[in-house]
Amino acid sequence: MRRLIAPEKRVGLVPTMGALHEGHASLVRRSVSENDLTIVSIFVNPTQFGPNEDLSRYPRDLDGDMQLLESLGVDILFTPESTAIYPGESPQIVLGIRDLDKCLCGASRPGHMNGVVQVVSILFHLVQPDRAYFGMKDYQQYLIIDHLVRELHFPVEVVPCEIVRESDGLAMSSRNRYLSEEERRQALFLSRALALVEEQRAEGVSLEEIRAGVLTLLAAYPLVRLDYFEVRHGQSLAPLDELSAANKPVAFIAAFLGNTRLIDNRILTE
Ligand code: AMP
Repeated sequence: MRRLIAPEKRVGLVPTMGALHEGHASLVRRSVSENDLTIVSIFVNPTQFGPNEDLSRYPRDLDGDMQLLESLGVDILFTPESTAIYPGESPQIVLGIRDLDKCLCGASRPGHMNGVVQVVSILFHLVQPDRAYFGMKDYQQYLIIDHLVRELHFPVEVVPCEIVRESDGLAMSSRNRYLSEEERRQALFLSRALALVEEQRAEGVSLEEIRAGVLTLLAAYPLVRLDYFEVRHGQSLAPLDELSAANKPVAFIAAFLGNTRLIDNRILTE
């Protein structure tokens, strides 16, 4: 990789798991516009999937992905085999996260964030990018990677990117393609719940009542199984009782439709 890249080039990296959509494309466009060279990785990282999760059936579409990336002007597509990333039979080095993965997706998916920091560290070492692009759809992941880079002094600038949505509000996700027609319709619960939170907050409704409002809305979406709805501090992820701007509140939501787990979040502005 280092031989492919002239040292004077500014390199942007967009790490992905493939089955690319407009959300990924927005990260890639930004990287192409901000760097001399853009590298996209597609690697369905086994260490961030739990034993009962969708690793084996995670959507794969390498041909479609390659077409999209070529049209976006990507310079290098990196699609390593699992054995290239993890050469050892039994990895001995484990990176840990003290607090930030003890809530939200980190709590619902034990070990997931450890797998993420492990693979992102390896990708950063292999690619040595100047900038790396991450979507705010995975807010907690972005936050943890930001700490990873600052605390371990990776010479990488982490660039957070806005959530890209379908026209009806559903956050784009590779997993959306699992949804049946009816599940797709009811998946709107996530973005609608977050819109309701924003609306009620603007009206000065208390957090407790907002929570009750989300549960009332949930009743209209019988296919949705709520994993969590929480409002937390946007930097520390500490739980909040109150929605003042000083608390940098962010509303987080995760839900299952059938076996498909979807997430979304919204930064609650004044
Ligand atoms: P994934 O392939 O799901 O691991 O995602 C790769 C990167 O794309 C991550 O940084 C995600 O946060 C980002 N991403 C996924 N979906 C979206 C979206 N709808 N909007 C913005 N970024 C996204």
